[in-house]
Amino acid sequence: MSEIYLDYQATTPCDSRVVDEMLPYFNEEFGNPHSVNHAMGRRAKEAIEKARSQVAELIGATDPKEIIFTSGATEANNLALQGVARFHRAKGKRIVISEIEHKCVLETGYALEREGFEIIKIPVSKKGVVDLRLLEESVNDRAILVSVMTVNNEVGTIQPIEEISDICRQKGVLFHTDAAQAVGKITVEASRTDLMSISGHKIYGPKGIGALYVQLKPRVRLSPVLFGGGQERGMRSGTLPTPLCVGLGKACEIAGQEMENEQARLTEFRECFLKTIFDNLKKVYLNGDVEHHIPGCVNLSFDGVEGESIMLGIPGICISSGSACTSEILEPSYVLKAMSIRDDLAHSSLRIGFGRFTTNEEVAYAANQIVEVVNKLREMSPLW
Ligand SMILES: *Cc1c(COP(=O)(O)O)cnc(C)c1O
Repeated sequence: MSEIYLDYQATTPCDSRVVDEMLPYFNEEFGNPHSVNHAMGRRAKEAIEKARSQVAELIGATDPKEIIFTSGATEANNLALQGVARFHRAKGKRIVISEIEHKCVLETGYALEREGFEIIKIPVSKKGVVDLRLLEESVNDRAILVSVMTVNNEVGTIQPIEEISDICRQKGVLFHTDAAQAVGKITVEASRTDLMSISGHKIYGPKGIGALYVQLKPRVRLSPVLFGGGQERGMRSGTLPTPLCVGLGKACEIAGQEMENEQARLTEFRECFLKTIFDNLKKVYLNGDVEHHIPGCVNLSFDGVEGESIMLGIPGICISSGSACTSEILEPSYVLKAMSIRDDLAHSSLRIGFGRFTTNEEVAYAANQIVEVVNKLREMSPLW
């Protein structure tokens, strides 16, 4: 086998059905979707409105107008946090997030902190679940927003969204969730939240497109981050990229149709993979929550070997390790750190992601290769 892609949490290939749907909008139906005074513009707008409905349908939004197209989940998260912070700053300056949010939420939080907002980071359990008691305590009368991701991108843990939603509703505080790793994989309910971020390239759509769900009833208010022509109900100016919007819509449609089947397939892959690993290797630990977990993501720590070394031993298999190369030193993942996982075990971790185009053979091959390399590395190690 030449190259095997098992990094579906980092990105996914664009489904060819999505590409087919997009193609005409590059050079045939290229009208400006905001030029509705002529037919070409109106046809582009129609395509975009269809896509908006497809996105709304998948996440259970009641009105397609609640979908604001953005360039991705990074921008959607920035718009949610900065937008709410700026609009509601007279009410309070506290924003409650979790310790394991994606960098784009954490960094937006730090930027707001420098502007005088107060960012509270809620710790997580060893399984990566936010501490609900601490979260509830942190939502005081100065709090204006709670932002907790639906599914974590490193370990795949699903957060107790309904409970967090109940806490926020009860306290009258806005609730945002970064659902980039959840949409299309598990059922999400936009109506449980006030704001929800999604990303195209995590669900077999194109890169460079995403959306922010902004609830209409009751209407959630936010300040724009981008100013200009007032598109997207004034919340996100700029000419909409018709092909990308159409692609995101199609990706959402397919995800809705295939979610159940895909969940079953990916669960089988995960079980198969884990069986081979645990049958053949000692001292391997599963990171994350076994019960509240998306099916396609496995995060494992292989005691005594570095994740990076394993990856060097299997160059044909595309996976991720739990260390991030910041400058020249390897830093253990902040997510695993927040889950109180020992530094050495964080360094020995790998994230393996299965997806729509993964095959049985690839899963078996990858598992066997990892077993072989880990055994070899452990034999060579004087510490083992
Ligand atoms: C990928 C990802 C993002 C960033 O999405 P982009 O569309 O690439 O900007 C944000 N949050 C999570 C949880 C992600 O997995």
